Amino acid sequence: MELKDIKEGEGKSFEGGAHVPHYKSFTDNIPISRMAPPAEVIIPLQQHVGASCDCLVEVGDKVEVGQKIGDSDAYISAPIHASVAGTVTAIEARPHSDGGEMDSVVIETDQEHSEFVPQETRDPDEMSVDELKEAIKEAGLAGMGGAAFPTYVNINTDQPVDTLILNGAECEPFLTCDHRLMVEKADELIAGAEILMRCIGAKKTYLGIETNKMDAIEVLATKLEDRDDFEIVPLAVKYPQGYKSYLIKTITGRDVPRGARSAALGCIVRNVGTTFAAYEAVVYGKPFIERIVTVSGPVVPEPGNYIVRLGTPAEHVLREVGVDPDELEGHKVIFGGPMTGLAQSDLRVPVVKNITGVLVLPPDMVREDVSYTDCVRCGLCVERCPNWLYPNQLSILAEHGIYEKLEDWDIWDCIECGICAYVCPADRPIVHFIKRAKPIVDEM
Ligand code: SF4
Ligand code: SF4
Repeated sequence: MELKDIKEGEGKSFEGGAHVPHYKSFTDNIPISRMAPPAEVIIPLQQHVGASCDCLVEVGDKVEVGQKIGDSDAYISAPIHASVAGTVTAIEARPHSDGGEMDSVVIETDQEHSEFVPQETRDPDEMSVDELKEAIKEAGLAGMGGAAFPTYVNINTDQPVDTLILNGAECEPFLTCDHRLMVEKADELIAGAEILMRCIGAKKTYLGIETNKMDAIEVLATKLEDRDDFEIVPLAVKYPQGYKSYLIKTITGRDVPRGARSAALGCIVRNVGTTFAAYEAVVYGKPFIERIVTVSGPVVPEPGNYIVRLGTPAEHVLREVGVDPDELEGHKVIFGGPMTGLAQSDLRVPVVKNITGVLVLPPDMVREDVSYTDCVRCGLCVERCPNWLYPNQLSILAEHGIYEKLEDWDIWDCIECGICAYVCPADRPIVHFIKRAKPIVDEM
């Protein structure tokens, strides 16, 4: 089917999943804008999968915006940079959005000198593949779509890779940061994809975009109309369309065995935000110090897609969009999307590399876990689980502490997408049960 014949909502898809409400109209037409830096940033020394960074600064040090303040010798890691200029006032454990605390560098912001100004502009075509990879490594890039896997490790593969897939599905409700990026930064996104293609040796890039973003598809299709090495793949609007295995299967037809690395199948999947950040890292030498965050919800006076400095506390984000953090009784503040994001009880927690959204959900949109009942054996969760699991069985075993049986029911294959809980008529907090059981099973 020709791109011009695709209608909103249509497109290629995987089996399973669910159609969830979009709630994207709060922000999908709002251009990206910049949020003022907070008076103080809190920068955790681990914002990625892999080893935590060693701190490179001391209390009292003056730092420049973009200065490296944490690094590690471990292969799977990513350096951390100051997102503002200022003075280091503390290096200590601070609340983190994953729950608990994490060692963090606290910087009092020098508002006058916190704008990042590139020292040079580089032409990627005049850089070797090793130089491109090094720029991405030094910038501290990590997957911005949620997983936060270090980008350098991802692209430094010795597997033969023929295909780059750009993930522009953005299938979670409310989130529109990737959507706006594709509309407003299409040239830079394409240039970023060309950089990644050279790094991994891919000959073809597919852009997977859900068809509730027709303006993004149109902008990119116009820019790519003469290119054989790029192809836009319109995706049906379904959750979790952006999950890596489903994208690969939907776009290339290649099955991804459980636990397999995508590179072993000849594919690398990168989020569009990460691809844009790779462009900025290579061309401007810009470290990963800020990202686009969707700030949304029906009670947010000024929702939008904001460029937010890493380390910005949630309470600053909320105040900047007109929300009083002290007036949120009964509301939930969520980092990420409502399906996989994490509810935050401490609003001092900072935005980090993989935080796609800050949502404020009012009481009528919040499902309280206390109201669930026993499983009524309707089978809906089994029917919709995209990984062909038995969520009902997993939840019953976990709820009753029968942890030794959970591996028999493939608990490790649960991607915590939340569909089972979403469709459950008994309102069972299935993902909560599964998440709570995993560390216990891991210890057994
Ligand atoms: S069991 Fe896991 S993978 Fe399956 S629907 Fe539930 S959360 Fe998603
Ligand atoms: S959807 Fe809920 S009630 Fe239905 S089988 Fe699954 S756990 Fe049981």
